[in-house]
Amino acid sequence: MIDKKKLNYIRKQFPIFNKKIFDNKNLVYFDNASTTQKPYSVIKSIEKYYKNINSNVHRGSHYISNLSTLKIEKSRKIIQKFINASYNHEIIFTKGTTDSINLIALGIKKYIKQDDIIIISQMEHHSNIIPWQNLCKETKSKLEVLPLDKNYNINLSLLDYLLEKKKEKVKIISLVHISNVIGLENNIKKIINKAHKNNTLVLIDGAQSLSHTNINVKKFDIDFYVFSSHKIYGPTGLGILYGKEKLLKKISPIQFGGGMVKNFSFNLNKIEYEDLPLILEPGTPNISSIISFSESIKFINKIGINNIKEYENKLLKYALYKLSKIDNIFLYGKNIIKYPIISFNIKNYHPFDIGMILDKYGIAVRTGNHCAQPFVKFINKKGTIRISLSFYNTYEEIDYLYNKLLKSIKILSKI
Ligand code: PLP
Repeated sequence: MIDKKKLNYIRKQFPIFNKKIFDNKNLVYFDNASTTQKPYSVIKSIEKYYKNINSNVHRGSHYISNLSTLKIEKSRKIIQKFINASYNHEIIFTKGTTDSINLIALGIKKYIKQDDIIIISQMEHHSNIIPWQNLCKETKSKLEVLPLDKNYNINLSLLDYLLEKKKEKVKIISLVHISNVIGLENNIKKIINKAHKNNTLVLIDGAQSLSHTNINVKKFDIDFYVFSSHKIYGPTGLGILYGKEKLLKKISPIQFGGGMVKNFSFNLNKIEYEDLPLILEPGTPNISSIISFSESIKFINKIGINNIKEYENKLLKYALYKLSKIDNIFLYGKNIIKYPIISFNIKNYHPFDIGMILDKYGIAVRTGNHCAQPFVKFINKKGTIRISLSFYNTYEEIDYLYNKLLKSIKILSKI
């Protein structure tokens, strides 16, 4: 359980909450879906790497290089365990969720033919749309977009139709697990079952998931699962691509260089590449981020994901209760939000204007289309105000937001 004492302890672990940000104000951070704040253990781990063992990996014959290599490989194992992958080489280090999706979309190109079908949904982040649009353009395949119903659930009729009528032409479905616009969870198990009956692959965009819940890639039989360290209290510039071993072996590398070669030849066809994971990780990896990301996982595990879920759910309910007291507020999907990501608008006021005023009070929210224009335009053409909560947020911060929202409305009503 996260009680007041524990919350106090947790907040003390985040340096950004223990200092004034500007105008002598503390930061009230409600933009966790964009990126999360970092605890001391993660920051210190980055510092420790550069101070003590800064060296390249997988290629040195000296002490600190071997140590760096051991540490990134240990991190890989911790990540493998975190999502319950079968093997550590099923964990590929990338730059982020976006980079991971691009790797798959480009890496499967040779298997995609004209008139094949790639499926996404109307709920996707642009990072899970544009790589597929490009793949479709290059291969003359077709992108199908599963629409949302009025309750913001993905309508599966089109999926059923395509799987039944187009059969083996439906090559891959790429779907978000938890939306970054409203904290809705898609029933990925159901969709994966349907897809696998047709031998269709499924990629799950888990960018918003692992900070709020756990995932078991084996149990869910997920083919590819992608996420970013920076959204799970870890450093920026590091993403994870999980893939089933047998599938990753079929993915073509999309970048080439050092670190991935076992035996070089000037005859390109004769180059012998390393096995997984190195074949998909050319160049120097983001060593300090990989090492320190394991500290984020340890941090989450120490608090306990069930405690996080329980506390964040209470915060979510409280935030919805307070916000719903505001006149003329539109709280999108109010009764179906499962995770603490809330999108709203206040009648007659532009989300950006509200966001600007809140910022003056030290409250960080996100406004606009959240890089998910097809979804946000479906909700409201002008965009939304989004608050996304974390286990380090407090009831008092929600009260503060409520008061400052009322103040913002008052200020704007006079203009
Ligand atoms: N997918 C979803 C659902 C996201 O929320 C985000 C980022 O907000 C991304 C993909 C892209 O993540 P990144 O910018 O870390 O690559």
